[in-house]
Amino acid sequence: MDAPQQMRVGEWQTPRPKAGEVLVRIRAAGICAGDLYIYAGKNPYANYPRIAGHELCGTVEAVGEGVTNSQKGDLVVVEPFIGCGKCYACRVGRSNCCANLGLIGTNLPGGYAEFVVAPAGNIHSVPEGLAPLDASFAEPLAIGVQACRRGDVRSEEYVLILGCGPIGLALIEVAKARGARVVATDISESRLKFARSLGIETIKAAELVDAVRRQTNGEGAAVVIEATGNPKAMEQTVELVASGGRIVIVGLVKQGMNISIPGLDITRKEMTLLGSRASVNCFPEALRLLASGSIRYPKVATRLSMWDAPSVFEKLVKDPASMHKGVLMIE
Ligand SMILES: [Zn+2]
Ligand SMILES: [Zn+2]
Repeated sequence: MDAPQQMRVGEWQTPRPKAGEVLVRIRAAGICAGDLYIYAGKNPYANYPRIAGHELCGTVEAVGEGVTNSQKGDLVVVEPFIGCGKCYACRVGRSNCCANLGLIGTNLPGGYAEFVVAPAGNIHSVPEGLAPLDASFAEPLAIGVQACRRGDVRSEEYVLILGCGPIGLALIEVAKARGARVVATDISESRLKFARSLGIETIKAAELVDAVRRQTNGEGAAVVIEATGNPKAMEQTVELVASGGRIVIVGLVKQGMNISIPGLDITRKEMTLLGSRASVNCFPEALRLLASGSIRYPKVATRLSMWDAPSVFEKLVKDPASMHKGVLMIE
């Protein structure tokens, strides 16, 4: 991407792995809302020109000096978040919200390419039997794992998920794997229909508040996870959550955009209001979930050629709901 809305296939120097780094030959690279935001010029963390792509699976091509956790030919996924190791967040083990976060595919070269480099600590082996396309879902599923950990989602609990886009679907699958009663909403009927096909209940956005009250005997949801990025939906979480419940905000609002909530509800409900950004230490669990076969979402991915990316992005930015999830492949 040379600039917003300007994407092309071109030549780029093949990177060389420095000490402690791994060079990965890309096989599959998922298309994420974050990539569409970079394309549209709306991702506040991106700079241009940029090779995007951060949901990556490939084979190890070469390793730099001192790398012992992988060798040439291994099928691996790449964790795209690189903490500085020095700031407060990194010091307490939360490098996903590092004050100087490096993001492969956002402010560092990404995997919409034949090769990408990453620190060895960001490389995870793919379990036996998992294909590259399926394994590329480790990154979005890890976001689901992170949000469910933040919200302490437990078995049998009523978990309401706002938004059934690609991240909403990851949240649905992880919360369901944890044994929660998952209910989701979206303004798009086709997205709701697809969410139901994953075996969960859905509510139309217009009926949301009444339906949640009815289904929870007037209590509200134990956990509300926001994955739309819509400020109105974010504000509504306070009304939807039960007393003593948890709200997890995953969706991104535009920089400078404020939301407004009734201040008294924070203490009246003693609600826990949590942000959830990307993921930290969640890839192993995401890969285990994928390998277990309990995650159905990769089965509906649209397989696309990497070299068609410019036309795919042009279409997707106009109609993001036109496919549930696209994955760019080099085969
Ligand atoms: Zn992503
Ligand atoms: Zn840091």
